[in-house]
Amino acid sequence: MKMLITGGAGFIGSNFIFYMRKAHPDYDLVCIDKLTYAGNLETLASVMDDPKFHFIRADIADRSEMDRIFAEEKPDVVVNFAAESHVDRSIENPAVFLETNVMGTQVLLDVSRKYGVARYHQVSTDEVYGDLPLDRPDLFFTEETPLHTSSPYSASKASADLLCNAYHRTYGMPITISRCSNNYGPYQFPEKLIPLMIANTLADKPLPVYGEGLNVRDWLYVEDHCAAIDLILEKGRVGQVYNIGGHNEMRNIDIVKIILKALDKPESLITYVTDRKGHDMRYAIDPAKIHRELGWLPATKFADGIPKTIRWYLDNRSWWENIINGEYQNYYERMYANR
Ligand code: NAD
Repeated sequence: MKMLITGGAGFIGSNFIFYMRKAHPDYDLVCIDKLTYAGNLETLASVMDDPKFHFIRADIADRSEMDRIFAEEKPDVVVNFAAESHVDRSIENPAVFLETNVMGTQVLLDVSRKYGVARYHQVSTDEVYGDLPLDRPDLFFTEETPLHTSSPYSASKASADLLCNAYHRTYGMPITISRCSNNYGPYQFPEKLIPLMIANTLADKPLPVYGEGLNVRDWLYVEDHCAAIDLILEKGRVGQVYNIGGHNEMRNIDIVKIILKALDKPESLITYVTDRKGHDMRYAIDPAKIHRELGWLPATKFADGIPKTIRWYLDNRSWWENIINGEYQNYYERMYANR
């Protein structure tokens, strides 16, 4: 079995590679990554010398390069994590989100079809459903919830999902899609809420919280997401969408306070900043289908996952300090100065 994993130098893709190495040591894994600002080869250092792992730097939207790689590697399965993934950056510059998330997915679908892969899996997000009101805690996203996107990021991910559906319906391609809630865990790029707050807390810097911090996200430990994708690849029904989430809704402000408490720092570090444009209020996944059909349940409670994650950032300071001391500083200034 040869599995081609795109975006494997990013947060979830790298965790998926580590997960698959343990769960299926017999698989050959090929990772394609463009190494954008969010991709980091240092993350993959522990598998680089593994004879059953192969890294190729390439852009999924580069058709001739993908054709060449697929012809040479002949993967049995493709799992597409590669994406521009940060909502704030999509508000600043939507074009690259369409290039990678939409056109890149189309290229991967075309070459997967041409070389007859046995399964194409698209890693998607609950953000394609838009948001839910805060005063309706009874409402959840199911796989039947209409797509109703708010940001250029979510619009690009929804477009990719629609293309996947179309390629399944039109060409009979063996496609599955998963839509997961917010992930947290090791190797997450420091622009995202949890690592951003950990890094700033450790540096005694202000913690920029959007609006009043009341937005609700449904947090899942990254390894649980990886296990769910593995299960979908093994037992999921082709042509189906599976929502992934652990019924772990938390307000942003409460996450920030948990991090401050864990690191024994004062809440006076919290600074409320102008809200994100079009900010979704609440995401909440109904994971009944994946539980019922595939028996998936999250293994990590937030109460265990968050201290484990904080510990990881404490033990791996050089990994994220290298990032925040580089080009990222310009982005941070643009985002949070004068806000
Ligand atoms: P990330 O930004 O950490 O990693 C993305 C990776 O894709 C990086 O290594 C980057 O270099 C690579 N990449 C970007 N453009 C590329 C291109 N054109 N060609 C090849 N590689 C390219 O993102 P993440 O948080 O790990 O998310 C991975 C996937 O999971 C994305 O598709 C995202 O939409 C989805 N997702 C993320 C979350 C979350 O909470 N982070 C939740 C649900 C779904």
